[in-house]
Amino acid sequence: MSPVGATDATHDPALESWVPSANAPGDFPLQNLPFGVFRRKGTSEEFRGGVAIGDQVLDLAALAARTPFTGPAAAGLALAAQPSLNALMGAGAAPRRALRVALSQALRRGAPLAAAADCLLVPQAHAELDMPARVGDFTDFYASIHHATAVGRLFRPDNPLLPNYKWIPIAYHGRASSIRVSGVDFPRPRGQLKPAGDAPPVLGATQRLDYELELGVYVGAGSIPGAAVPLREAEDHLFGMCLLNDWSARDVQAWEYQPLGPFLAKNFATTVSPWVVTLEALAPFRTALRRPDGEPAPLPYLDGPENRSGAFDIGLEVWLETATMRRAGRPAVRLSHSSFADSWWTAAQMLTHHSVNGCKLRPGDLLGTGTQSGPAPQEAGSLLELTRGGREPLELGDGESRTFLEDGDRVILRGGCERPGVRHIGFGEASATVLPALPA
Ligand code: MN
Repeated sequence: MSPVGATDATHDPALESWVPSANAPGDFPLQNLPFGVFRRKGTSEEFRGGVAIGDQVLDLAALAARTPFTGPAAAGLALAAQPSLNALMGAGAAPRRALRVALSQALRRGAPLAAAADCLLVPQAHAELDMPARVGDFTDFYASIHHATAVGRLFRPDNPLLPNYKWIPIAYHGRASSIRVSGVDFPRPRGQLKPAGDAPPVLGATQRLDYELELGVYVGAGSIPGAAVPLREAEDHLFGMCLLNDWSARDVQAWEYQPLGPFLAKNFATTVSPWVVTLEALAPFRTALRRPDGEPAPLPYLDGPENRSGAFDIGLEVWLETATMRRAGRPAVRLSHSSFADSWWTAAQMLTHHSVNGCKLRPGDLLGTGTQSGPAPQEAGSLLELTRGGREPLELGDGESRTFLEDGDRVILRGGCERPGVRHIGFGEASATVLPALPA
């Protein structure tokens, strides 16, 4: 098997598919092949695995019924066709990689499978996408030092970064039950709000609702309870990545977070994109893990030669469509952009640290990377940072502005990878609309 991170024939930028839309510019060319779970919209069909190709979904259950592959690729296809991807995730890297190679060949221009296109393809516009996996546990990290510093500065101007930051991949345990796939809207949450001064807290709808621009990382093969995953093996336990919006109620957060960290400010909604881009698809976009000179090296269990080239250059964007924009037929506006390459910690370091105490990781567990803010102020991945704690409203054009989100706002995360000589791949989008708070 080729090592993790190696590129192969599936990344050849010259490859074209017999699915015509896959050859046009877009997120889902033949070089990507992200996995998801879908059924035809408006039906009560069982959900099953699919692969995004151009503007279509390749139906993996229909494909499996034709028994087109043998060996590990056939085993991978049988797992990928199921109503959730947990079994494929749990099987580890070998069947997933074999399936990728087989799918790349089967979808290539001139492949005989093209004759069966009508039975195998569903237009994405006619597909309902579900959560790709049953998420057992959700852990949200804090891996962008630029985000940690900017947020810390709002609370502690003289001492923005806490002393543990450069040593520990900081995280909190989130709530898996509130993770929903893109397109599922949610009401503005209520919670305890603390007025300034001596006034007691009140229960009310949050007035400082924010988004967080993150990536999600799905755990593949699980770990053994009591046994840490060495860093050099960590990527064998990672399945792939998605976009993740960790919606946050900043006023609730400010009152509740001490001493135990985030609780109800974070667990009312988390939105993920439906397509999971595998580590194999991301291989051409690996890059050096950048640490400025003079910064401490990680402890040995979090350091190694593979990890020093284990960052991924994934461009991330936040877009906002207000109700006014929708009514006026105006397009969404981009609020900021950043890159996962600026993260202080890699996904592999997050997984290894998570297991260092013997904590068991299971297939389909989700690790959030934390808000990915870049070094420049306009690269901030949350409104908290962009508006400096709500003090400097963000102008949206046509007289609209925001400090925090209003009812009717739709936040859209997008992401993708660019590199000269390599075919662009993308993540699609993760979006949801803020609905008015439910009556008390
Ligand atoms: Mn977060």
